[in-house]
Amino acid sequence: MNEKEIEKILNFLEDVWEYENSPLKVYGNLEKSNPFQILISTILSSRTKDKITYTAADRLFKIFKTPQELANANVNDIEKIIYPVGFYKTKAKIIKKVSEIIIQKYNGKLPQDLNSLLSLPGVGRKTANLVLSIAFNKDTICVDTHVHRISNRIGIVSSKTPQETEIKLKETVPKKYWKKINKLMVSFGQTICKPIKPECERCKISDICVYYKTKKC
Ligand code: SF4
Repeated sequence: MNEKEIEKILNFLEDVWEYENSPLKVYGNLEKSNPFQILISTILSSRTKDKITYTAADRLFKIFKTPQELANANVNDIEKIIYPVGFYKTKAKIIKKVSEIIIQKYNGKLPQDLNSLLSLPGVGRKTANLVLSIAFNKDTICVDTHVHRISNRIGIVSSKTPQETEIKLKETVPKKYWKKINKLMVSFGQTICKPIKPECERCKISDICVYYKTKKC
């Protein structure tokens, strides 16, 4: 795929972000949150709908505003506040543990490098890369299920795992687009290029989409 086609895709995805009210746009715009809140919100988001994730995060941060307050919190209280987030019991323990480590090892400030973030409990590449790109403005790509599916459907990459997708996207897509790929593809995946029955008739990049050309969705 050439740079012109990548540009066409991302321009269309920008339009989708602007004109469609995706759950991410309505509930989950993290750009005004601080780095610690972005990390905790992303931990909460795994296997949970955006509306539930971000309303739970709001409730949590109204009561516990800092890593120190969450490190001192009772796990049962965290559980009750974040319920009905998926795996809320496990996530409550992780949130407390992560907060303790940030206080003890990093002096209350989130580390800004991939390996340190990956060493925190409950933090995988998806979460670490999202924190690096949104909270610290670093050029990286957060590959979640939407980014993995859509990149393969369109044919920007051909890959089996999210990590392979991340590597191949970084080889193919110019750096200037990396930070916004996650936001744009998640929103596109929630509204048009859905996991089941993508709405290809509304899609303005079907002429370059491998999935469309081969399956005629
Ligand atoms: Fe997704 Fe269909 Fe558009 Fe391809 S044509 S990107 S499958 S919505």
